[in-house]
Amino acid sequence: MIDSHCHLADKQFADDLDAVIARAAAAGATQMVCIGDSITESEACIRIATRFENLFCTVGVHPHNAKDWQPGDADRLRTLARSSPKVRAIGEIGLDYHYDFSPRETQRLIFEEQLAVAAELDLPVVIHNRESTGDLRAIIERVKLRKLVLHCCTENWEDVSWLIEQGHLLSFTGIATYPHAGDIRETIRQCPLGQMMIETDAPYLAPIPHRGKRNEPAFVVEVARKIAEIKEVSLQEVDETTTRNAAGFFALPKG
Ligand SMILES: [Zn+2]
Ligand SMILES: [Zn+2]
Repeated sequence: MIDSHCHLADKQFADDLDAVIARAAAAGATQMVCIGDSITESEACIRIATRFENLFCTVGVHPHNAKDWQPGDADRLRTLARSSPKVRAIGEIGLDYHYDFSPRETQRLIFEEQLAVAAELDLPVVIHNRESTGDLRAIIERVKLRKLVLHCCTENWEDVSWLIEQGHLLSFTGIATYPHAGDIRETIRQCPLGQMMIETDAPYLAPIPHRGKRNEPAFVVEVARKIAEIKEVSLQEVDETTTRNAAGFFALPKG
C-alpha cells in the first residue's frame, strides 16, 4: 500500500518521524510520498526522503503560499527537482478559493509558472483544488499536462469526471470515512479504481476511527478499507490497484 500524499516535513512529525515510518511499514504502507508546500518545506522533504529508502517526495509551492513567491523561485524549484532522484513530481500546486490565503490572480500565476517547470522537466503534477474548479480546468486544459493527480478529492463527480476522461487520477483521503461525506463517497463509486490513489494528507484529516488525532501514514489503511466497502471489492484489490497506480504515477521502484 502506498500513502501517495503526506506532509512528513510538518513540525508535528519533528520528534518521532522514525516511529511514524516504522508504524506505517508495520500497517502495510510500504512506500510514502512526502509532499512539499513551499520552497523551504520542499527542501526538508528531500532531506527526509533521503533518510528513508521507502520515502519519495515532491517539490512545489501551495496556493496558500503563492503570495510568498519570489523572483527566481521557478529556478529554485527547477534546481531542487533536479537535485535528487527522490523527487518524483511537482506539487502540491494549484488553486484554493476557499481560504484565499493568496490573491487569486497570484495563485493562478504561480500555478502556471510551476506547471511550466513540470512540463520542462517532464514530471507529473500533484494538484490542490478547493472551490476553484472552473479556473483550474481552464488552466489545465490550456497547458495540456501529461500526468496529474487531483489530491484530496472532495468534489462532486460531475465536477471532476473530465479529469478521468482525460486519463488523469483522483486521490482520496480519510474524509471518505466521515459521516457527512456522501458526495465524496458517490465520486469514489463513479471513479474507476484504475485511476484512483489513496492518501492520508497527514498530519491533517485523520480517518475514522482516528479522527481528531494527528494523522499519520499508517492510517492510509482505513482509507483503503472504506474504498473497498464503497466499491464492493476486496481490500486486497484496492491495495493492489492503488499501489500499481501510485507506483506508475510517481515511477516508484518495487516496494
Ligand atoms: Zn492540498
Ligand atoms: Zn497536502
